[in-house]
Amino acid sequence: MKGVKKQNLPQKICATCGRSFTWRKKWEKNWEDVKYCSERCKKKRRHRNLYTYATTHLKTIPKVIY
Ligand SMILES: [Zn+2]
Repeated sequence: MKGVKKQNLPQKICATCGRSFTWRKKWEKNWEDVKYCSERCKKKRRHRNLYTYATTHLKTIPKVIY
């Protein structure tokens, strides 16, 4: 990534929070596999999907989320 300007760094959308995040040095070797902006989002994913499913299809939030 040498010589690449900051604003030209690749970006992705986090699969959990839906926000865009920018390429980081620590992802240099596995950027293609990176799907989340942070460890927190990575761990949160299952609950988030369940939450989305519940609010979309059930119109209620199951107790298991809390
Ligand atoms: Zn995220």
